[in-house]
Amino acid sequence: MRLPDRFRCDHALLPDGWADDVVIAVDAAGTITDVARGDLGTGLPTLGRWLVAGMPNLHSHAFQRAMAGRAERGDGGGDDFWSWREAMYAVASRIDPVSLQAIAAESYARMLEAGYSAVCEFHYVHRQPDGSRYADDDAMSLALLAAAREAGIGITLLPVLYQVGGFDGRPLAPRQRRFALGTDDFIAQVARLRRAEDADARIGVALHSLRAVSPEVLAEVVSADPAPGAPIHIHVAEQLAEVDDCLQARGARPVAWLLDHAEVDARWCLVHATHLSAGERGRLAATGAVAGLCPTTEANLGDGLFAFPEWQALGGVYGIGSDSQVCLSPFEELRWLEYGQRLRLLRRNVAAPKLGGSCGEALWRAACLGSAQASGRAVGAIASGCRADLLVLDPEAPAFMGRGHVEALDTLVFVGGEGTLRDAYVGGRRVVAGGRHVDRDRITARWRAVMRALG
Ligand SMILES: [Zn+2]
Repeated sequence: MRLPDRFRCDHALLPDGWADDVVIAVDAAGTITDVARGDLGTGLPTLGRWLVAGMPNLHSHAFQRAMAGRAERGDGGGDDFWSWREAMYAVASRIDPVSLQAIAAESYARMLEAGYSAVCEFHYVHRQPDGSRYADDDAMSLALLAAAREAGIGITLLPVLYQVGGFDGRPLAPRQRRFALGTDDFIAQVARLRRAEDADARIGVALHSLRAVSPEVLAEVVSADPAPGAPIHIHVAEQLAEVDDCLQARGARPVAWLLDHAEVDARWCLVHATHLSAGERGRLAATGAVAGLCPTTEANLGDGLFAFPEWQALGGVYGIGSDSQVCLSPFEELRWLEYGQRLRLLRRNVAAPKLGGSCGEALWRAACLGSAQASGRAVGAIASGCRADLLVLDPEAPAFMGRGHVEALDTLVFVGGEGTLRDAYVGGRRVVAGGRHVDRDRITARWRAVMRALG
């Protein structure tokens, strides 16, 4: 089902706040062409009473949904990011294009049900488990694009360059071999995939991390710029060990080194950026790059806490991502972002603007903007020129009882609750109806079969 050409709603969250009696026009391609407020909509169909833009997810490894919750057993006290990574490699070594599409479609369908409308897929499982090529070199990338199309989620596919196993340039371990692409192969793949771009699918580029790409190759890729104007993502400063290794190998902290060796600007998304010195924080915020925060994953992996109010005070841009897929809800992601800071600082409503603004709404609006920037697509806002990616909230849901629309985001972020998200539209097409993905039965049946086979 598609949105009507013009419709109204009682209250919509626009870029400058809630507005009443909003009339929205959408073209046949699924892009918003006009947003008007005031009592202009008599006789038009009503989409719903409370409407907000869907959240773009700025960082996803879809395949990791297959292992979410399966690395939570103690190994005698040494568990950390690096032991989790071994468990993740075991899953990565068993997927192929068919199972990847099934896992990704399930992940994307659940993201849509939870309030994400778009996803940045940070994709590094390129080749066969032994490192040899698939008959179609793009098979794994195409599986992800197909999964996004099936689920009906907007996608920014970020093929990842991953070539070495550490700052010392050591070769990849056997389990990492399928992540590797030669620099020329990588640039050629990005160019090929760009031909498949459309209104709901964009291609960007990613460098896995400073430890996975040599300085020379980083410089080569950035200057070749295989996807001009598109986003550039990189994992950075997630772990203290990474900071120490970078200091030792390159004489600088990771973000400082990156800022010294690449022209980081608003096209860049620095995923995690957890461990920043005050100097790095100031320099990075001034570039306009997005800090790609993944609070539930960072908590799960014991990464550390991002200095969020310090970043906000600098006007730093931020967005959120589901990363390892332990949580697929943007609301819960923001709850963890805020709660981490409350626990750290022993105060409340850290993200709220001064003088009584809503904390949940402040988080939601800022993260929508930053995540949209990281996606390189016109999404994340109810505004002319943006994709019609909309969430229809249900004011009759139990969690909303006795509350007005201006409290909706506080309720969703800090309480959540069944029935609060009724429908979701992406590019004007309905993908969630009554809280269920429209193709959930088929997508989930296939996921079950794939997961049973993977064991
Ligand atoms: Zn990641």
